[in-house]
Amino acid sequence: MRAHNFCAGPAALPTEVLEQARNELLDYQGLGVSIMEMSHRDPRFVEVAERAEQNLRTLMGISNDYAVLFVQGGASAQFSAIPLNLAGLGGRADYLVSGTWSKKAAAEAARYIDVNVVSNDIRRVAAQSEWQLSRDATYFHYASNETIGGIEISNEPIVDVPLVADMSSNILSKQIDVNRYGVIYAGAQKNIGPAGLAIVIVHKSLLGKESQQCPATMNWANLAEAGSMYNTPPTYSWYLAGLVFDWLLKQGGVEAIEKVNAEKARRLYQFIDESAFYSNPVELDQRSRMNVPFLLADSGLDKRFIEESEAAGLMNLKGHRSVGGMRASIYNALSLEAVDALVDFMAQFERKYG
Ligand SMILES: *Cc1c(COP(=O)(O)O)cnc(C)c1O
Repeated sequence: MRAHNFCAGPAALPTEVLEQARNELLDYQGLGVSIMEMSHRDPRFVEVAERAEQNLRTLMGISNDYAVLFVQGGASAQFSAIPLNLAGLGGRADYLVSGTWSKKAAAEAARYIDVNVVSNDIRRVAAQSEWQLSRDATYFHYASNETIGGIEISNEPIVDVPLVADMSSNILSKQIDVNRYGVIYAGAQKNIGPAGLAIVIVHKSLLGKESQQCPATMNWANLAEAGSMYNTPPTYSWYLAGLVFDWLLKQGGVEAIEKVNAEKARRLYQFIDESAFYSNPVELDQRSRMNVPFLLADSGLDKRFIEESEAAGLMNLKGHRSVGGMRASIYNALSLEAVDALVDFMAQFERKYG
């Protein structure tokens, strides 16, 4: 029996996807070898890779003005790749810091370029009118969902320069207009597939602006030119991502999963808000639909909450070590039933100890 897995990342994958991977593991489509054991140049792997890209383009409505790259090093490698690839535009960029991840991205970029932090508050996102934008920034970076703080920015910032967004923990969770962005990137291990793989969606007009120092393996123009096969790509992760895209299309695509995600979040937050025992610290209009941190009224009960929830088949509810408490990550692969099971458990726990 599969547990309900609320892990923030690497996160739950759809059971059907894992079943298909298991069925094909030893013998990919009668070839007698695993897809893991095939050359990335093999036409049958190339077909898998191209199909994954095509399906992602369909799911997100990505036009041919954008290159879609499948890269290694997770989202964090892009913290460096972004300034290195865009440095040719000029030496200064604006960064909105709204939590742990955007803070890390800004710190890494500062190794290469001049970083202007427009606002720095990890408990809430300041209104755009309060941001200190620089006059000569060449791009604007933000994280659309802060996985640890549970803060989501639902409307794109309105800026005059290319928008660069870390969507690691909310990509494919809701419809967005890709055309508003210069660069979208995401580590795969939340809503796409296995850790290590990241996806970069970059407007083609931003290719070829890299600095001399940009490593070839991180050079977007180089990767786009080579179909993400400048060196050996993470083939198995790419294949698994493709299975997740197939699965998502079968669910009705992003539009359909967005409705489920909204309902999952609504039920969980409503329960937390109506309870005197649980609380969530995030302002209503900035609450994440993907990561729901919550505190128990008595933190002395945290350990017991974790033990009893695991015994009930609800895994990985412990909050991030930097903030404590609990966190339920409810990505695409988490069903409405999983959220109902969590709410039932929380209600029971409150009756017992509250
Ligand atoms: C998980 C996460 C990252 C880091 O991803 P890695 O693949 O570990 O580098 C970056 N940004 C956000 C918003 C994340 O949720």
